[in-house]
Amino acid sequence: MCVLGMPLKIHCDACRAVLYEGKYVKSPHEIIVSCEGKCPNCHRKLSHIPKTVEVMPVE
Ligand SMILES: [Zn+2]
Repeated sequence: MCVLGMPLKIHCDACRAVLYEGKYVKSPHEIIVSCEGKCPNCHRKLSHIPKTVEVMPVE
């Protein structure tokens, strides 16, 4: 299933801060690099991509 074109949201597991929001699917590595390897809100280290990924349908 192709999810390109759908808004994608990735939250920090610990504090629910939005780490990435956009309509392009990025690789986990890109998201971690863009966050400097940690959550910008709670500074929790991101060793892997957070589990919570929401893909919202386009209305
Ligand atoms: Zn956090």
